[in-house]
Amino acid sequence: MSRLCLILFGAPGSGKGTQAKLLRQSLGVPHISTGDMLRERVERQDALGLQVAGILQVGGLVPDETVNALVNERIQQPDCDKGFILDGYPRTVNQAKILTGLLESQGVSITLVHLKVDYNVIVARLAGRRQCPACGALYSLSASAPTVSEVCDYDGSKLVIRDDDREDVVTERLKAYDRQTTPVLEYFKSVDVPIWDVDGAAPGGPLGIAKRIRSLIEETTGRLSGGVN
Ligand SMILES: [Zn+2]
Repeated sequence: MSRLCLILFGAPGSGKGTQAKLLRQSLGVPHISTGDMLRERVERQDALGLQVAGILQVGGLVPDETVNALVNERIQQPDCDKGFILDGYPRTVNQAKILTGLLESQGVSITLVHLKVDYNVIVARLAGRRQCPACGALYSLSASAPTVSEVCDYDGSKLVIRDDDREDVVTERLKAYDRQTTPVLEYFKSVDVPIWDVDGAAPGGPLGIAKRIRSLIEETTGRLSGGVN
C-alpha cells in the first residue's frame, strides 16, 4: 500500500483535535502539527529557528516555503513510513500547491477529511461552556453541568462565559475559517484529491466518527491501489 497523507479539516469546535488523537492511535501514524513544529524549531535556536522566532515576534506569517521545508523534513523520519496526519495545514492555496507537488514526487497519496458540524451546533456547544472566575474550573452545560445552575461546584462562585466562547466571537471565527478554507478545498477538488465530508456531530460520538474515517480511508486506499473506479 502506498503511503497515506490524511489531511484533517474542521472548524474550531468541530472536534478535529480529538479525531487527530484517536486516528493517530488506531492508524499507527504520527500526527504532524505545523504549529508544534514551528515552536519546537524556535526552541532549538538554530538559524531557521531564529528566523522563525523573528517573524513570529512581530506577528508575521512564516513563509509557505519555510513551513513546507519543515514538513518535508519531518515526513522523511522513519515513523512516517506508513503515512501521517496533517491538521491545521495547508492553510492557503499556495501551501496546498507546494504540498501536493512534494507528495506526488514521493508517491504519497492524499485523502482529505472535512469534519462538518452545523454552525448552530458549534455555537451552542461553545456557548454552553462556562468557567469559574475564581478557580478556573470549566463546565459544559450539556456534558458536565455544575450541580447548581451557573454556580461553581468547588467554591460557589458565579460562572462566566469566556470571551472566546461568546456567540459573536464564535461566529466571527467560523466566518474566518470559511473564508480561509473554501479556496483550499476548491484547489484539492480541482486536482482530484478525494474529499470526504464527515458528520462531526454524528450520534456515535468521537469513537464512531473515528471508525467512519478509518473505513473511508480503507475505501480510498483500496481504490487507489486497485486502480479501478
Ligand atoms: Zn470555582
